[in-house]
Amino acid sequence: MTHYSMYINGEWVGKDYETKAVINPANQKEVGTVPNGGKDDTTRAIDAAHKAFQSWSRTTAYERADYLEKFYHLILDHEEDLAKTMTIEMGKPINESRGEVNYAASFIKWFAEEGKRIYGETIPAHVDGKRLQVWKKPVGVVASITPWNFPAAMLTRKMGPALAAGCTIVIKPSSDSPITAIKLMELCEKAGFPKGVVNLVTGPSSEIGDTVMSDKRVRKVTFTGSTEVGKTLIRQSADDVKNLSLELGGHAPLIVLDDANVGVAVKGVMASKFRNAGQTCICANRVYVQSGIYDKFVEKFSEAVTKLKVGDGLNEEVDIGPLINKAGLEKVQHHVDNAVNSGASVVVGGKTREEGEGVFYEPTVLKDVDPNMVIMNEETFGPVAPVQKIETDAEAVKLANDTEYGLAAYVFTENVARGMQLIEQLEYGIVGWNDGGPSAAQVPFGGFKESGIGREGGHEGIEAFIESQYVSIGMN
Ligand code: NAP
Repeated sequence: MTHYSMYINGEWVGKDYETKAVINPANQKEVGTVPNGGKDDTTRAIDAAHKAFQSWSRTTAYERADYLEKFYHLILDHEEDLAKTMTIEMGKPINESRGEVNYAASFIKWFAEEGKRIYGETIPAHVDGKRLQVWKKPVGVVASITPWNFPAAMLTRKMGPALAAGCTIVIKPSSDSPITAIKLMELCEKAGFPKGVVNLVTGPSSEIGDTVMSDKRVRKVTFTGSTEVGKTLIRQSADDVKNLSLELGGHAPLIVLDDANVGVAVKGVMASKFRNAGQTCICANRVYVQSGIYDKFVEKFSEAVTKLKVGDGLNEEVDIGPLINKAGLEKVQHHVDNAVNSGASVVVGGKTREEGEGVFYEPTVLKDVDPNMVIMNEETFGPVAPVQKIETDAEAVKLANDTEYGLAAYVFTENVARGMQLIEQLEYGIVGWNDGGPSAAQVPFGGFKESGIGREGGHEGIEAFIESQYVSIGMN
């Protein structure tokens, strides 16, 4: 078993530290250990990033793009190793892990290019003898905190724009899946990024979090994870008015209207709901189907779900890997039990799956659910699709928006005018219309309401790492 190290100021640190084990959720075996770093290591990483910022921020966008291009190609060259690492440490089926490696790489490629398009502005003056300009500057040292469910892509979606903009970065990966991130650091080293530009620390989240939040040299914190932790960071950011970007939880509605193509809708909900065993922030968490098509949809959807194969994600045939841990499994079971005890029926699945020591849940379809059930009100993070019958478009909109979340929503209808009218009323940052997989590097990703602040990806994604400096130039 390998003991991995932290990466601080271009050096591998923590070989002799106390360790924390990383557990494969498919069999509960240790897959490696990481150092239990803490406050001192985080401060050293901030020291290094702060020092490196002085020179990295002065390199040209073209030089930074060259480093990022090298990193991009190295990620693709190591696709298989990164994919296996991801599957072993957090359970995602291997084909999805390969997909995530490519998705992760796409952010590095996109932002390598986007960094060259950080344009300033010249604004017409209101009086003679002045020139009004806006200059663009990197925000400074960035701290990145990421979740376990997309251990590569959630990190590169932050690293790409931060580094392209001229910022340096201190990374804190999830304790459940830190090895993928450490392997990405090995590739950064190979790509030749100067010392201190990229740093990674592992260890207790609150200690590392408190350290970055209380260090005034960290000018920006970019976080992906739960809304609960996001709110803690907002509170902590008040003391020195730290710049925050937050990608938080979701509770996505998926609406199927009676003029939908059932085949397209079933394909869409399969893609959206069961990817990563339902453990994604934009997973459809509640399905609303209009009464005219409800029975047919439930039948076809259930048929497709029955075919999903559950097991260790390293098996190429597997569609549904384990859940991340026992707590995740218990939450899913609680949502199903609560629904069934309140009148829902299980059409497929509905229970845990015994597979050795693994933490598996059967892909599940529930019908006859109602809006009061817990599953219709909380993020489930598991392979369970509750399907509620609805009558009207207005009812769909009302139910969809009746949540504090606003990340992703899905709509299935073949009627363009109806689709547009409905989507205009949805309070969601991302909408898939006849599409269960809307994510891509070149589009803005982020949520309304308590699903976050800011956008990642697209041309908007780099703005989070740039300050505008307005310069008024007197010409007399
Ligand atoms: P989490 O518990 O909020 O953890 C996310 C990260 O925050 C981890 O690195 C965690 O470290 C760290 N953390 C925990 N407490 C902290 C604190 N007090 N200060 C600083 N950092 C702290 O979320 P998760 O369970 O890993 O991920 C699942 C959640 O992420 C879901 O709600 C999902 O919807 C959301 N998510 C959102 C997006 C999006 O783009 N909007 C994408 C993916 C996931 P440890 O692991 O060491 O505890």
